[in-house]
Amino acid sequence: MIYLDNAATTRVFDSVVKEMERYYSEEYFNPSALYSPAFEVVKKIAAARAYLCDKLGGGGKLYFTSCATESNAWVYNCGVKNKKGNILVSMGEHASGYENARALADKGFDVRFVKLCADGTVDISDYQSKLDENTTLASVIHCSNETGAINDIALLSRIAKQISPRCLFHSDGVQAFCKIDVNCEHAGIDLYSLSAHKIGGPKGIGALWVRDGIRIAPFIIGGGQEEGERSGTENVAAIMGFCQAAKDFSAFDGGQIFALRQRMKKALEDIKDAVFNEASEQSPYILSLSIAGIKAEVLQRKLADKGILIGLGSACSSRLKKNRVLSAMGRDMRQIEGNVRIGFGVCNLSDDMDSVAKTIKECVEELRWKK
Ligand code: PLP
Repeated sequence: MIYLDNAATTRVFDSVVKEMERYYSEEYFNPSALYSPAFEVVKKIAAARAYLCDKLGGGGKLYFTSCATESNAWVYNCGVKNKKGNILVSMGEHASGYENARALADKGFDVRFVKLCADGTVDISDYQSKLDENTTLASVIHCSNETGAINDIALLSRIAKQISPRCLFHSDGVQAFCKIDVNCEHAGIDLYSLSAHKIGGPKGIGALWVRDGIRIAPFIIGGGQEEGERSGTENVAAIMGFCQAAKDFSAFDGGQIFALRQRMKKALEDIKDAVFNEASEQSPYILSLSIAGIKAEVLQRKLADKGILIGLGSACSSRLKKNRVLSAMGRDMRQIEGNVRIGFGVCNLSDDMDSVAKTIKECVEELRWKK
């Protein structure tokens, strides 16, 4: 099997599984317990937290959550105190951001959705025109999970704070973490969401990084873990697995992934009526291609029968017929129906790219011929 849906999730590194096992069968103590083996676990969680904070440039606080969906929900539900003021959200957010913003709009909050450019990045002039001195939260995804387009979050934060100095700037960093360098503090980011399972870590563990000096109310209250910011017994094994994954993922050479993408792109370039959805600042981990005149899910099934697994855009929205992000980029219905997302990962081999591309092209031909 050749797995090319790494933007949906990744194979967990063997080193991560090994690390996690230790915290299930040996160091399984509740970190809140008052005996010394539990204190050791507390120290290890602190070290994991510090390592992940360092990956974001150091400084700030990092709170563990059950996933990035929770981190995003936390920001939208607790980062905005009341209905005074307005909230800016890009049309390019992952469903876990966008749907929370829509829910706020349904409750009567003034939520302003910012347009995208044809390359998938946020339309800066629309963003600027929708900001005002009453904006309390601006949220823009760092790297698009649909297309891999990278937003200049430092610039967007600067613009937001020039117009509304007290506004919080949040970015969903799930597809960017360990892939695109970021220094949250220097970039003016206040809140940054993370997830482990896109970088060889386990599912069911995420985090929210919060700038020093900022406090948002807790979303989940109870036993007061995570300094009272996120209650619930710490998922120790997953936290340690997250940290191990970040270490191992960071050791890989991003240049190799870029080469894989280039090779695949070149090999697919001659498909007729097809357009790559990409930006000049682009993640090498994602190749999004809209092939007009075919149904992408049929192509996906055909490829799966041949042992090749690719994605159809966001895994969360692949069951929905429309694709909000591609629509916002101005893609037409035929392009959206034929949209595929190839997600590269550290397990992919360069030599497989040409044969995968050849199979994709044969399947596309067959689908068009059958029509
Ligand atoms: N944000 C982005 C950009 C994502 O790609 C995903 C996962 O697909 C999420 C948030 C949700 O992450 P999780 O699966 O940890 O809830």
